[in-house]
Amino acid sequence: MLYKDLMLGLYFFAIDMRGNLCYILSMEENKVENSSMCAKCGGLCCQKSGCGYIVKDIKSFKFVDLKALLDEGNISISAILRKGLVGGRLKTEKILVLKARSIDKGIVDLVSASTQCKMWTPKGCSYSLADRPSLGAGLIPDINQGCRRNIYDYDKVLDEWKEHQAGLEKLVKVYTGKKMEYVYEEQFIKTVALVWAKRTLARGDISLLTIGEQEILSMIVEASDDMAYEIKQAKELAAKFVKNTIKNAEQS
Ligand code: SF4
Ligand code: SF4
Repeated sequence: MLYKDLMLGLYFFAIDMRGNLCYILSMEENKVENSSMCAKCGGLCCQKSGCGYIVKDIKSFKFVDLKALLDEGNISISAILRKGLVGGRLKTEKILVLKARSIDKGIVDLVSASTQCKMWTPKGCSYSLADRPSLGAGLIPDINQGCRRNIYDYDKVLDEWKEHQAGLEKLVKVYTGKKMEYVYEEQFIKTVALVWAKRTLARGDISLLTIGEQEILSMIVEASDDMAYEIKQAKELAAKFVKNTIKNAEQS
């Protein structure tokens, strides 16, 4: 944590039994840090994916400013699925958001079995606490409970992102030349097919998948009612991947 972070808000500190500084909570900024617990864990959350921004983190939503921010190379556009009432029907909606970029992922990373965040180092996050995406800085470290709680209400965060869908969809079109729905469909089919093929080749042993890949499997369950076409396509593609992999292995 840098000196400037300390100047930004009201901080509370906790000291562990050995007298080490272990907990920093900034009430003003809704950011929390438990450096000793995270050091022991080794950054599991950051190794599975880059964390999410909230709308307030982004200084300007003007098209040119957002594009310049994405071109810097550390942020991706991602899509979150959420089940909710749309026009009186329970539907899965896709909400575009911004997140810290994962290694080897592009600007438009709508459906990815994410990998380690680009900003993660063996010493932790390379951003200061104040500069960290809010959903990462708001994650309450609690290894015993799987670090599932966040200072931020995720539904509210997504509701705020819904106000910016048109601008983010325009950026998806600029970077890919395609409408968001097509890009989502392509990325969903390819990503899900690869994860399924990997699971089949691992003889169903989920532990051989990365955490990001395991999350994709839960996402499919969530989306299954509304994405029957994409799921069918992914199944067919997965079968081809498996067949080709076995054939190549037999020939070599
Ligand atoms: S927040 Fe939880 S998962 Fe992330 S580094 Fe800290 S202890 Fe590990
Ligand atoms: S930006 Fe920092 S806190 Fe967020 S996932 Fe990356 S390394 Fe972790």
